Amino acid sequence: MSTLASQADLALRQLEGAGLMRRPCTVSGAQGPELSIDARRVVCLCSNNYLGLANHPSISAAAAHALLTAGVGAAASRHVCGTMDFHKKAEERLSRFLGAQAALLFSTGYAANLGVLQALAGPQDIVLSDALNHASIIDGCRLSRAKVLVFDHADPDHLASLLHTHRSSAERAVIVTEALFSMDGDIAPLSHLAELRSRYEAALVVDEAHSLGVMGPRGTGLCASHGVQPDVLVGTLGKAFGAAGAFAAGPNSIVQLIENRARSYIFSTAPPPSIAAAAAAATDLVEAADEGRARLTSHAARLRSALSGAGFRVPAGESAIIPILVGEPRSVMRFSADLMERGVFVHGFRPPSVPAETSRLRITPMATHDPFHVEHCIQAFQSLAPRYARSTSSPTHALAVCLPK
Ligand SMILES: *Cc1c(COP(=O)(O)O)cnc(C)c1O
Repeated sequence: MSTLASQADLALRQLEGAGLMRRPCTVSGAQGPELSIDARRVVCLCSNNYLGLANHPSISAAAAHALLTAGVGAAASRHVCGTMDFHKKAEERLSRFLGAQAALLFSTGYAANLGVLQALAGPQDIVLSDALNHASIIDGCRLSRAKVLVFDHADPDHLASLLHTHRSSAERAVIVTEALFSMDGDIAPLSHLAELRSRYEAALVVDEAHSLGVMGPRGTGLCASHGVQPDVLVGTLGKAFGAAGAFAAGPNSIVQLIENRARSYIFSTAPPPSIAAAAAAATDLVEAADEGRARLTSHAARLRSALSGAGFRVPAGESAIIPILVGEPRSVMRFSADLMERGVFVHGFRPPSVPAETSRLRITPMATHDPFHVEHCIQAFQSLAPRYARSTSSPTHALAVCLPK
């Protein structure tokens, strides 16, 4: 065995020993409210396909039309081989949806966060980042080479004190947060953050990966419902929109600067035209999905109350993200396996996706679940309550440590 192969082997055995090995299951067919896994039908209670659009026929048709007329590939970066009209149309549609001046497509949300933060901050700047921000934001902070100041989760007072101490030494200050936190399902104090943005002449970047399409008027997100205009809104198109990719939206000048500076945009092949077409079609559906959003909210409320009734510690809240903290990686994977045996698929999240000691199930219903799906899931949890309910706890943000070493 080569040196690297034997090192890899050792690293894998260590992951296995710590209960941190990842082995995704194989899903046959489409992503929907039920999935076929290992020739069994199970209820999917862990996808970000909140509105069930991932296999919606009109989005598939829009993608198929683009595929048949414009082909599969975008050939190069748009700076090299040009913007295809499908990209332009999707960006116009997304800008109109949000009432933003401009939007710029990225191939993934991960690439969008890398690109936006690296484009807007440099070594002479500071980036102020919530302690529970997504890995892609953390990596964007690092790529920017700005001084990164991590503020306590959803704590505007701590943010204010960091700005007070460090603002004058930096050319630019960029505050970055998720709107709806992906692993905890709680909401950032957006109005407070916007206030501090103005007071300290900072910029505000908000990642609406899990709120866009799901929350706010017509699904326009939490900034819209809080009356906050971020300098850049990052939205993803692979979650509630059921497609793939992401975008950064904001004023013309900022979006054009990102287009000229973001390395993950410049040095990467543009998204396929079929995906851009899918994103535009998805925006029409998302905008009109009030009924789906209401169904999602009601499923989430039913799950929260039934699970807490069964003895699980479930945080209060209104979002469709419901975490059940178990703590230990191996216990959470056992819990997940026991649910799967009962026909319910809930993925277990372990470090580095979540801070150490906070491994958890992250439950997310879908608008396309029928009530019987939800009741089936509740029964599975109830039957496992004697085994697991006592060991679960509410998210304790005090435990949260953000930047992995
Ligand atoms: C999923 C996610 C991303 C990354 O988006 P992809 O399109 O899946 O790469 C970025 N930010 C947050 C908060 C996310 O949850």
